Amino acid sequence: MMRFDILTIFPDMFKAVLGDSIIARACNNNILSLNFIDIRDFSKNKHRKTDDYPYSGGGGMLMTPQPIYDAYMSVADGLDYKPHTIYMSAQGSVFNQKKALELSEKKHIVILCGHYEGVDQRILDMIVDEEISIGDFVLTGGEIPAMAVVDAVSRMIPGVLSGEENFMNESHFNGLLEYPQYTRPEVFMGRKVPDILLSGHHKNIENWKRQMSLETTLKKRPQMLENASLSDSDRKFLKGLGYEFKKDK
Ligand code: SAM
Repeated sequence: MMRFDILTIFPDMFKAVLGDSIIARACNNNILSLNFIDIRDFSKNKHRKTDDYPYSGGGGMLMTPQPIYDAYMSVADGLDYKPHTIYMSAQGSVFNQKKALELSEKKHIVILCGHYEGVDQRILDMIVDEEISIGDFVLTGGEIPAMAVVDAVSRMIPGVLSGEENFMNESHFNGLLEYPQYTRPEVFMGRKVPDILLSGHHKNIENWKRQMSLETTLKKRPQMLENASLSDSDRKFLKGLGYEFKKDK
């Protein structure tokens, strides 16, 4: 079972979003353990305060180290290993599918969600193994980023997705975007599902999916093609669409 402990001042936000769906099913099936630790419960301040003014001035508040440290120790104390500890941060390296796969192989992850202007540097130096950002923009808190990470990582843990759902065919897993997909009805407002998908010819359908995946990536995120793992026939197909590989130039 993989374990996540989320250190946050807004635990209820998580319950609203992750308390349903595939993630909840994984928790009920004991594949995943998700715990939300309210940092305020560890504040020694009578008003449960967890922030204070920064020494550098400049406005805003910072999360103080003591409640975070005690919340962290409520998880880490007594373990014979250090749980992999992530600080959700606009300054971190940008999260992607490769990182999600890497994290899905950990047995225990602690995620610290910041708020206000961020967190006292000393607590980051003491407990954090890596900082992860969900993109080059600034949010008010680390809760939404943490939910994105928990969701993306959890669905890669064996057994979380049912047999029919498969993250290996999805966008980004193999360095390409996914091919377009269609469901019923066969014709919608005059637009027909591509004939090949109705042909029942398994091999041709697989070829079509691969080519559509290449074409979609070329249209939407061409820069991904330079690092994707491509066969000779993939490269030939892309060249036929007018793509020039930088490495060929
Ligand atoms: N003063 C900080 C800075 O300039 O880097 C930004 C603090 S932000 C308003 C408050 C909290 O939101 C951060 O401590 C972090 O936990 C979270 N956060 C904001 N943007 C994020 C992002 N892009 N990815 C991950 N976490 C983010």
